Amino acid sequence: MSHRQDGILEPRQIDASVPATERLGRGPVAIIECVENIPCNPCVDACQKGAIRIEGDMNGTPSVDFDICDGCMLCVSACPGLAIFVVNKGLPGGVAEVSLPYEYTPLPSVGDTVVTLSREGAVLGEGTIQRVLSSKALDRTPIVTLSVPADHAMDVRHFLAKEPPA
Ligand code: SF4
Ligand code: SF4
Repeated sequence: MSHRQDGILEPRQIDASVPATERLGRGPVAIIECVENIPCNPCVDACQKGAIRIEGDMNGTPSVDFDICDGCMLCVSACPGLAIFVVNKGLPGGVAEVSLPYEYTPLPSVGDTVVTLSREGAVLGEGTIQRVLSSKALDRTPIVTLSVPADHAMDVRHFLAKEPPA
């Protein structure tokens, strides 16, 4: 598959990773934004439910069975490419949660307000840190969950800590 040289997904590639609206509304689900044909498959091994498959040899790209995936997030920290996110659009009140791998220090704290960023690094708005997971069970990359406006859920893929007031 041809793709942008900067590694940012094209709209058609994003569409291919997104579950149906009905599935998104049922609760957390993994979104895999991995389109490189590289020899890699820790995501497959990390998913204890067998929801992730790579067709053919391990140079293929992974896909998720959205009906099996329950959004447990084990695959998020196992991915060396930081290419897996869990989105929960099953929440009331016009908010959604986005869980993403976060390799920077210091880790944010629950309740922090942060600046949300798109795949391209564009500012989208604000989010609030809901959970920070950094345990031995997730022995690679910490996972940060933030709440965002529901219509930003498929666009927020990173964040910046806001400077504390002087
Ligand atoms: S979130 Fe959990 S169930 Fe879903 S694909 Fe990842 S490891 Fe499997
Ligand atoms: S572990 Fe990450 S980079 Fe490797 S195939 Fe899976 S999604 Fe792609």
